[in-house]
Amino acid sequence: MPLEVTPSSLQSAPLPCTSPWLIAALRKLVTRREGLCRQRFTQAFATILVTLWGLTACAPEPKTPPHVIIWMVDTLRADHLHCYGYDRDTSPTIDSLAEGGVLFENFHVHSNWTQPSVASLLSGCYPPTFAQDFTSTVPDGLTMAAEWFRENGYATAGMTVTMATAARYGFDQGFRVYEQLDMREDVRNRKHREGPAFDAKRVVDAAVAWLDHRWPGDRPYFLYLHTVDPHAPYDSHEDTPSFSEPHDGPVTGSTESLAEARRTGYAYTEEDRRHLIDLYDDEVRYNDHELGRLMEALKERALADNTLMVVVSDHGEEFWDRGDQGHGHDNLHGELTHVPLVMNWPAGLPSDRRVTGLMRGIDMLPTLLDLCGLPPLPDADGSSVALAVRNGHGLKDTRSIVFADRAKEPSDIRALRTPTRLYHTQRTEEPQLFDLEIDSASRVERQQPHATESQALGKRLDAWEQLRSRRSDEWRDRATAIPDDDTRRALEALGYLGTNDN
Ligand SMILES: [Zn+2]
Repeated sequence: MPLEVTPSSLQSAPLPCTSPWLIAALRKLVTRREGLCRQRFTQAFATILVTLWGLTACAPEPKTPPHVIIWMVDTLRADHLHCYGYDRDTSPTIDSLAEGGVLFENFHVHSNWTQPSVASLLSGCYPPTFAQDFTSTVPDGLTMAAEWFRENGYATAGMTVTMATAARYGFDQGFRVYEQLDMREDVRNRKHREGPAFDAKRVVDAAVAWLDHRWPGDRPYFLYLHTVDPHAPYDSHEDTPSFSEPHDGPVTGSTESLAEARRTGYAYTEEDRRHLIDLYDDEVRYNDHELGRLMEALKERALADNTLMVVVSDHGEEFWDRGDQGHGHDNLHGELTHVPLVMNWPAGLPSDRRVTGLMRGIDMLPTLLDLCGLPPLPDADGSSVALAVRNGHGLKDTRSIVFADRAKEPSDIRALRTPTRLYHTQRTEEPQLFDLEIDSASRVERQQPHATESQALGKRLDAWEQLRSRRSDEWRDRATAIPDDDTRRALEALGYLGTNDN
């Protein structure tokens, strides 16, 4: 019996999936029916229906809005996770979440230190230019993730163990509850790790306590959990496997020893370097262990299936990739901007999906909101790549450009990354251009003449910085942000905004 499809029957037919995007796709097809003969239309529709049925079988659609947890791991470079190709077993929990969800292979953030990067990830906007050295706050005019989730009916809570994202810097915007867990007042000058104060364990315990005693239960939750274990000082942990061995060098992994080495210009030996990397991996493994504990707690409370878990980091860490160690310095190469992004939601996302292509930090929040079925942020610079998540296609390269700087005023280091190029510049030096197609780690500066290409990329970077400065000034000057149409149009004309349409 021929399949008879009309726009009205589409409204009532028992479809395999009631997803709005699927309905829209089918409606679009039906409206074009006049241009096809009935037989061809029927065949085409049947083929597409079967295909879409297969897709939805892989990606079950949720019936209720998901809970959302952002597990922020401060200072986590992607290439130190097993699921991103590392040869050590540093991340069994994250690996498992990636296997059961979606991993973004080439996700880059816009700054190499905490405050601007987190402000950017949690707003979908490029970092404000005035986030200087712990003296500025996230502007009120920036709509932060918690504000948007709260406005859309979510219960919101945040827990952090780093002063860098303390309430005093505006990172509490939108949270009903924002807990600063035993942090010391000055993270930059801290000398030693003080017991469990900086451990992810504190964050997990606080999150579970909030779920058990403070979550109203009548609405979905948005939890922001900022952990900091891989950040210096580096240490090993008794309750997780260790990659480090006893070492008798002067640099122990404590902040004090690292600062002393920097102050005196200590010449690190290979053994010293190896030891710090081992300790860093110990921290990554420990953090992963605590994430596993959180996942178990969610399962015990029957919350895991409908929780959209996001694992992400604000920046990486250099281990002498360019001759230095740490982050926040003159380096915007991949070891500092390429961070993990994994999303897992058993009730709503496909499993074992790896999204290829360059993705910007500013796209994370718009994507998250899209997947949750929430309205888009009114003034985000980024755009959703949810379609790529659902259909498994790679991200289109044509609109993908990651701009980055240290977001300090004035910033003397900037970079522009495309799928094939990294343009890296400091004001006092000649810009460097790297060919990522043959040198993905940007180790060897391009030798061929490239003046024209460099000039073009430099102009785009200048235009971006200029326009972003204007936008930051608006945020700074106003209590409430009002999207500026001129700025938006100018950015769109230059290809910086709008459709990063998967
Ligand atoms: Zn950080």
